[in-house]
Amino acid sequence: MKQSLFAKHALLGDGWAKNVRLSWNMNGDLTIVQAEAIALPHEVQQGYVLPGMINLHSHAFQRAMAGMTEIAGAGPDSFWTWRDLMYRYALHITPAQMQAIAAQLYAECLRHGYTAVCEFHYLHRAPDGAFYANMAETAERVIGAANATGIGISMLPVLYSHADFNDQPLRSDQRRFSTDVEQILQLIQQLESSRNAQVEIGVAPHSLRAANVGQIRALVAALPKTRPIHIHIAEQEREVDACLAASGKRPVELLLETQQLDQRWCLVHATHLNPAEVAGIAASGAVAGICTSTEGNLGDGFFPLPDYIAAQGQFGIGSDSHVSHSPIEELRWLEYGQRLRLQGRNIAQVAGQRRVGDFLWQACLQGGAKASGRQVGQLAVGKRADLLILDDQHPNLQDLPAAEVLNTWIFAGNDNLVRDVIVGGKLVVQAGRHVEQERIQREYVACMRELRRL
Ligand SMILES: [Zn+2]
Repeated sequence: MKQSLFAKHALLGDGWAKNVRLSWNMNGDLTIVQAEAIALPHEVQQGYVLPGMINLHSHAFQRAMAGMTEIAGAGPDSFWTWRDLMYRYALHITPAQMQAIAAQLYAECLRHGYTAVCEFHYLHRAPDGAFYANMAETAERVIGAANATGIGISMLPVLYSHADFNDQPLRSDQRRFSTDVEQILQLIQQLESSRNAQVEIGVAPHSLRAANVGQIRALVAALPKTRPIHIHIAEQEREVDACLAASGKRPVELLLETQQLDQRWCLVHATHLNPAEVAGIAASGAVAGICTSTEGNLGDGFFPLPDYIAAQGQFGIGSDSHVSHSPIEELRWLEYGQRLRLQGRNIAQVAGQRRVGDFLWQACLQGGAKASGRQVGQLAVGKRADLLILDDQHPNLQDLPAAEVLNTWIFAGNDNLVRDVIVGGKLVVQAGRHVEQERIQREYVACMRELRRL
């Protein structure tokens, strides 16, 4: 395959540039990003090219449950009743099924514009609660799905030791997640050989409920210094109340006081924050991982986006439970949730960037790249050649000035405008279809046939 591309318009770090030549090496790293270039005779000129989005929070196996938990139970439904159902599913999935589900999910993510994913992976053990003969079996299956589809992955093995604050013992239905610090470090060690330009290995203490302050400190201290660290935090008010009851502190307050947060950290959800916590996360350099479609599905609450932007906080988006696999839906919900909450318009913007779509896409590229710990999120020399080519023949985009493209893509209509996707220099989506789509779908459908019998 050709290792270069000519774009009439390409989104660079400081905005849209004209006539950009992009070249990459055999490893898939960009080696030339030249604006105001001159197209060679017979060179195909693409219309609008931009960096692929990073999906900074994923539990791949939950893709299999999407749409299955929208039936009311006898009492009021909540995050916690949803979680009980999710656990029932989680107890049965085999490693082969996990791989089939993840491949389907990742192919869908790629087709909609995500070129990287951070996988918050906690189904480590077999259904009976024992480790597989290969301790890294399930993590390797998920990495295998990423490699087969072409998406870049940051695998984050999850430390999950307790059922709740005060080191409550795990419930029986949490037995597949059970890990201590030593086991996670052993897992990371085993996964080291999977690392390459497409695969990074980090870590994820599940939450302050499931891992205590001392465990998180020990884990981070033993981790190589450049690796990403993700944690679920302050997703639900009940969690905030339980943390206050157990420690006298709110979750983010406790995390800020007990850990050295920096740009390696991704605080997933961080929904329920007071002003001091907003300022604290922003000042630490950590990334807030906002998962609006899932947060909406689970009734979590609203992230305090305008305050956080005003504090110059970094953020990115994730599809989490995978009720959606489109960055467009994620960003639209992120903005619309705030409009509904505040009864205002054009919330996500700053003095230097008043276009909401452009601000959101660029901010989430930066935040997502940090959270991934990988060289992604920007069309610049040394970064991965992770590119989206939009369908410039779609009526929404034909003859459109580049400055209008992101707002139109994000806020107008429901067609998928991603035509081709290149990840690490390899074409993985062509004319809207993943290059392995038939096989991946066949395996997923067969897997779901088995799972629905449960
Ligand atoms: Zn999550």
